[in-house]
Amino acid sequence: MKYPPSLVALIRELSRLPGIGPKSAQRLAFYLFEQPREDIERLAASLLEAKRELHNCPICFNITDTDVCDVCADPSRAQNLICVVEEPGDVIAIEKSGAYTGLYHVLHGVLSPMNGVTPDKLHLKPLLPRLRDDMEIIMATGTTVEGEATAMYIQRLIEPLGVVVSRIAYGLPAGGALEYADEVTLGRALSGRQRITK
Ligand code: ZN
Repeated sequence: MKYPPSLVALIRELSRLPGIGPKSAQRLAFYLFEQPREDIERLAASLLEAKRELHNCPICFNITDTDVCDVCADPSRAQNLICVVEEPGDVIAIEKSGAYTGLYHVLHGVLSPMNGVTPDKLHLKPLLPRLRDDMEIIMATGTTVEGEATAMYIQRLIEPLGVVVSRIAYGLPAGGALEYADEVTLGRALSGRQRITK
């Protein structure tokens, strides 16, 4: 039996999502097909609305539905602290910890030359004009090999600009992505950060 073309197309689109293999895509496609039409319309509408309303903050590249994100627009945030993270989800995780009052910079990925992710593929360049020599830059990329390599790369890049660079470490399991750490661990990781510049 051959699958109808519309089912093949749906499975193909779903299997393009990160972490979804062909088997999972097929399972999702059958699941979606079984759902009431209203649910599917709501899902489709929310996808389109999110795509229409959301964009990256032009300063920190966090996801926002306003011109500039809430953090960048808030003058009460510590303007001499920038926390560099991999993904917008990391900002949410750190904000939930309540342990941080500075600014952010979201890279949208980590360096991974094997997978073609070179520095120019990240939102890294726009970090440079944000730096002043009275600043501390906290590298809060994950403790994976790529996260560590990315932190080291950025440290070497920005160190000559006279900023203090620190790295979160305390209490975070090696090989972990930030967004899976609980709030207490994340809070400790931030307050126990260690300076990595001389
Ligand atoms: Zn922002």
